[in-house]
Amino acid sequence: MSKEFIDYYQILGLPPEAGQEEIRKAYRASARRLHPDARPNSSDADQDDAFRRSVEAWRVLGDPELRSAYDRARQQPIPATPFCGQTSGFGQILADMWRRLFGNDKPENGQDLETRVEVELADLRSDLPLELDIPCAVACGLCGGLGRLPAKDQDGPEQSCVRCGGLGRQTVQRRLQIKVPAGSESGLCLKFSGEGEEGLRGGQAGDLKVEILVRPHPTLRRAGADLFLKHPVTLEQAIFGAAIEINGLHGRHHIVLPANLAHGQTFRIKEAGLPPGPGDLVITTHIVLPSAMPPDESDRLREALAQIPLTRYPGVSFLPERKK
Ligand SMILES: [Zn+2]
Repeated sequence: MSKEFIDYYQILGLPPEAGQEEIRKAYRASARRLHPDARPNSSDADQDDAFRRSVEAWRVLGDPELRSAYDRARQQPIPATPFCGQTSGFGQILADMWRRLFGNDKPENGQDLETRVEVELADLRSDLPLELDIPCAVACGLCGGLGRLPAKDQDGPEQSCVRCGGLGRQTVQRRLQIKVPAGSESGLCLKFSGEGEEGLRGGQAGDLKVEILVRPHPTLRRAGADLFLKHPVTLEQAIFGAAIEINGLHGRHHIVLPANLAHGQTFRIKEAGLPPGPGDLVITTHIVLPSAMPPDESDRLREALAQIPLTRYPGVSFLPERKK
């Protein structure tokens, strides 16, 4: 059911001064064309929608009390606010209509919907637009959530709705455009008010909650807006220094390692992290020793290292015995 003012006279093709008999005739003409009994092999959504609107128009205009309230509301500026919770105007007319149709049945609020979206760390460098297809229970397009329809000849008993089987709801795939904010943390829950299941009989729509899960990056670790990378360097690079390239989230960065690099020495690249800020990229070097060296290689390395006087290792108090 629409939340905005609807021109029921226009739906029935009538002037506002039309008499009750004209309203009845106009509805009957539309029912002859659009009632599901008149088109048993068609479930065209546009025709369902047109029929639902003409039923709603007839239910309001065909009831003298609702009609006079509606006529008064027509004179007011068009309210574009949701009708739920309104105490006057068009929303009240619809709420009164549901109350008359349902007696003491309360409005039924729609359930909240929850879904999860997985994103890559690299997607979060800026706001990420996403399109979600979410199965969502909405008010039936034919009966509007009532579960039943007036008879085709208007005076017969009401019948169960042929589209929803009397439940008042149907499930549709709803497509929704959302935006994941740049730099979102994993586990962030985005809430979209009123985008959950539709309410019935004037009830409020539920909310949609989207949990954002950020997939772990193969090499980068994150803390807030800062990114951290461990980068291995060889013994040779650590001793003599080197120009290296590393892969960050925004592309490649050049770093010049100084000679005599300390194990665990860090290098900070400003603003190469994530928004907001943006944060920095912090590179921690770790020195990797050669492994599985064949005996001739290790012998040569031992000989080369033996050329270095032990006094060149500042701070090392227990010096190793060297093989002669
Ligand atoms: Zn229905």
